[in-house]
Amino acid sequence: MTLPARDTRVTYPDGALTTTTEVVHVAPLGDGRLAVLTETTSFHPVDAAWPDQPADAGVLRAGGVAVSIRDAVVAATDGAELFLGGDIPVRKGTEGWAFLVAHLVDDGDVVAEGDEIQIESDASVRAALSIGHTACHVASLALNRALAGSWSKPAREDALGNPDFDGIAIATSRIEPNGSTDTYRLNKSLRRAGFDPGAVAADVLDTLASTVEATLADWADEGAAVRIERDGDGLTDRRYWVCELPDGTARIACGGTHVDALSELGRVQVRFELGEDAGTPVLSMRTTALPDH
Ligand SMILES: [Zn+2]
Repeated sequence: MTLPARDTRVTYPDGALTTTTEVVHVAPLGDGRLAVLTETTSFHPVDAAWPDQPADAGVLRAGGVAVSIRDAVVAATDGAELFLGGDIPVRKGTEGWAFLVAHLVDDGDVVAEGDEIQIESDASVRAALSIGHTACHVASLALNRALAGSWSKPAREDALGNPDFDGIAIATSRIEPNGSTDTYRLNKSLRRAGFDPGAVAADVLDTLASTVEATLADWADEGAAVRIERDGDGLTDRRYWVCELPDGTARIACGGTHVDALSELGRVQVRFELGEDAGTPVLSMRTTALPDH
């Protein structure tokens, strides 16, 4: 069995939930699971380098039998060996390497190279993660806007031209069903870059949350449209989240899935909390979309 020489083609960026495709390789992982590699997939995998959005949930159907997909991760191969997730030793796009979506199923499930199978993602899980991911992006832009006056020096700008607090200070980002949690490091280099930490002090966080929520409500009321632009249909082809906001068109590099309009988020609630990580103060921003409001 030979390993694929080409990236998996992905259809989830266009909103696809199902695909019919050919199994190009099945690799036993030695831990009771198999990695099923296909020509094309509609199943969103968790990314290896920036694991913000969890994998879809769903099944594949082989010969009429439904097989649970336990997880889906990004894998890579140089033709000789298959590496999964954090074990991938090279950067995305490295010449001579193919980047793949590995659908993980239980060993003993009947899937073989050359089979034509159907892949199906659960629609409600996908919808909730798409809401969470779009909420995460717009909240970061609204946060940057709210903090724009808190810089004493010119800073790198975000997609709307505001100082990019989110991009400069982000430590982790997790997309959840209907929401997200981002954490920001409030370290010395952020202060040296000109950011006033008083803008995120404990006693102003409720006001900051209200400001961000008001911006998000304004943007949603304008019915801002969201789309994904991409350079190609391969897993590693660059993709962008594009949102037509009243403040301008925002374009952010992103490999995840999203809603088609901010109106689908409903009301977005924002909560801030201060903590610390090994002596460094950390700000966390939690968003919760209430799609029925
Ligand atoms: Zn994203």
